[in-house]
Amino acid sequence: MQRILQPGEIEALDNTSFPRVRLPQVASLFAERAARLRQLAVDNPIADYLLFVAKIVDAQHQAQASLVLDTPDAALMQRAQQHSMPLLPAAEHLDPAWHQVLEAMIETLGASNALPEPLQPLLQELAALGVEERNDIAIKLLQKEVAARHVGMAPFIMAAVQVVLAKRASSLDARDVPYTDPASICPVCAGEPVASVLRIGGQAAGHRYLHCGSCCTEWHMVRVKCSHCESTKGIRYQGIEGAGDGLVAETCDECSSYRKLSNQEKDPLAEPLADDLASLTLDLLMSETRFRRASANPLLYVAFAEEQDDDSDELIDPAA
Ligand SMILES: [Zn+2]
Ligand SMILES: [Zn+2]
Repeated sequence: MQRILQPGEIEALDNTSFPRVRLPQVASLFAERAARLRQLAVDNPIADYLLFVAKIVDAQHQAQASLVLDTPDAALMQRAQQHSMPLLPAAEHLDPAWHQVLEAMIETLGASNALPEPLQPLLQELAALGVEERNDIAIKLLQKEVAARHVGMAPFIMAAVQVVLAKRASSLDARDVPYTDPASICPVCAGEPVASVLRIGGQAAGHRYLHCGSCCTEWHMVRVKCSHCESTKGIRYQGIEGAGDGLVAETCDECSSYRKLSNQEKDPLAEPLADDLASLTLDLLMSETRFRRASANPLLYVAFAEEQDDDSDELIDPAA
């Protein structure tokens, strides 16, 4: 028996109508990320660091629950839409509520003895900083200027800023988010993607999204396109031999950069930021090639100078 399709059903059949922008679900974002970090810590050479970051992410989760933000300025957003500019660039519109988040996170981390002993003074130093000084560091971090003396506190500051940015992004309507040029920066906060992810589930399935390292918004970019310079030529993939192709480095011959791509079809729990952090081995191997990371992981500013003790890992091209 044939019947006429209803409008909603027609859209569901049209596989071109997938979400262009996936705004963060802030109520579950950090909890899922923390769980993923703990999962990836098992048998990981940087397990201690991942477990430490998981505690920071727990504190982010706790802080977002009580956070109430002002509604973003509608006129400001309208101007951005007219000019195809990111809706609310983070460095220009940093909600002062981030200080309150940082305070809450310092308290949570301090009270739970979550931090390794050597990092305790860092937390005290951070707590002692004035509002202006903190603002100054946060804005410099968002503009990718990290002073050597702030490297240690950078992940805490970025974590607090991220809570505010993700909460604000989660309150937006995806339809209000403009197409921006270049397409390699976040259309909400102008941040850089930390990594990209091939999604499963719902209409996003089979599509590649770039994941903002600052506000955690995801936006669609076709596959086999450089997420840094948008070249469609000279894109290749490199992974670690024997580790499968669930996570690979997407390299670009044009701009000599790489960014990681995790594939939920291979690992349904893949979470871009956590997976990027946990695959530091791949970065170490990539550092021996001519490709450079396109952007940093906001929760990793610590320079890992230690030599890798296990040199059995080798880079392979999974497509080969
Ligand atoms: Zn963003
Ligand atoms: Zn490129």
